[in-house]
Amino acid sequence: MRRGLDALLNLFYPGDCFLCGTAVTRTREQSVCRLCWEKVLSLDIRPPWCACCGLPFQMELPAEEHLCGRCTVEMPPYAAARSFGYYTAEISRMIQGFKFERRRNLAALLAPLLAAAFGSTWSRTDFDLVVPLPLHPRRRRERGFNQSALLASRLSMYLIIPCSEGALTRVRHTPPQVGLADAERSLNIRGAFTCGRRELVADRRILLVDDVMTTGATAASATEALRKAGAVSVAVLTVARTVPGM
Ligand SMILES: [Zn+2]
Ligand SMILES: [Zn+2]
Repeated sequence: MRRGLDALLNLFYPGDCFLCGTAVTRTREQSVCRLCWEKVLSLDIRPPWCACCGLPFQMELPAEEHLCGRCTVEMPPYAAARSFGYYTAEISRMIQGFKFERRRNLAALLAPLLAAAFGSTWSRTDFDLVVPLPLHPRRRRERGFNQSALLASRLSMYLIIPCSEGALTRVRHTPPQVGLADAERSLNIRGAFTCGRRELVADRRILLVDDVMTTGATAASATEALRKAGAVSVAVLTVARTVPGM
């Protein structure tokens, strides 16, 4: 029945690929053509990467675990961070469309990328709770939704790990991080999060979910709030990350 309806809709209102605009077969949620989707998949980050922050190394390294220069100097508060792909080209277009053009249906395509990145390092028994990175209530109102919460709730369904949107709160409305140097970013974001409901995170191993990781300053600040509330460990998973030179 549904397929018949889709076929009929395609005849009169073919869907357009969000990325290239060519007509795509209308399905319930998909809105990227096969060719563009293959480009998205080809932007995946592959090992070798920093065992802690997940930053990919440009050179081949022996199989044992390595840390990047930054993690060697100062270990971040989170146990590890992983991302599906580079924040560039098709992936950045999709994430920007998802956030700023309110294309909420793109969550259906972005969440499986999170699941793929998750599977490269972890298994579901490694975590007790999925927590999305919160937006400040003011920004949440402006946007109408928290993109990280949409991603986290889908991921939590795939992984069968509970998700708590209310565990973490953003208490400070920080200026955008864009254009700030690394040190300024971490000052800008320090103390921006609080965990008002300790009982949700105490003694739990937390997977923190966001759309993009840049310097990791935001993830570090959120991790500190969760750790202060008694979380045993925090790991970070994002769809994409910026990598210098990419
Ligand atoms: Zn396309
Ligand atoms: Zn690192």
